Amino acid sequence: MNKNKPFWKTKSLSEMSDEEWESLCDGCGRCCIYILHNEDTGDVFETDVGCKLFDPKKRACTNYANRSKLVSDCVQLTPDNVERLHWMPKTCAYRRLANGKELKDWHPLISGDRESVARAGIAVSPDLIPENEIDNDLLESRITKVR
Ligand code: SF4
Ligand code: SF4
Repeated sequence: MNKNKPFWKTKSLSEMSDEEWESLCDGCGRCCIYILHNEDTGDVFETDVGCKLFDPKKRACTNYANRSKLVSDCVQLTPDNVERLHWMPKTCAYRRLANGKELKDWHPLISGDRESVARAGIAVSPDLIPENEIDNDLLESRITKVR
C-alpha cells in the first residue's frame, strides 16, 4: 500500500536501484572538497579547495565513471559504508536516510530544482580553488567552517 510514497520513504538504501541511489545525491559537492580533521577533538573542517576532477560551477565530477581510478582517495559511497563515514556532511541525503531522517525540503527530489540546494546554503561555492593550484601545506589557511 505504498503506491503513492516516493522510493526513499519505502525502500532501504540497499533496496534502491542504481538509478534511485544516484538520484539521492543532492549535488551539494561537499564530499568533493578538501577537509581537515582535528584528531584530538574529532572536529572536521571544510576548506574552499576542491578535488582536481570537480567542476565547482556545475557542482559535478568531470569523470564520475573513472573517479576511483583517477583519484585514489575518492570514497565511493555504498549502503554498507555510509553510516561509518562520519566526516560526510550531516546534510548529505545518504547520511540522513541512513540515520533514519527525512530529506530536507531543499533536496532536488522534493523541490524539483537542483538550485534549491544552493539557495539553502548547502552547496559549495562556485569559486572553489582547484587542488592543483594550492600547496598542501597551505590547506589550513583555506578553512571555511567546521562541519
Ligand atoms: S555530500 Fe552527499 S549529497 Fe552532497 S554531493 Fe556528496 S554524496 Fe551527494
Ligand atoms: S573524483 Fe569526482 S566524485 Fe571523487 S572527490 Fe573528486 S570530484 Fe568528487
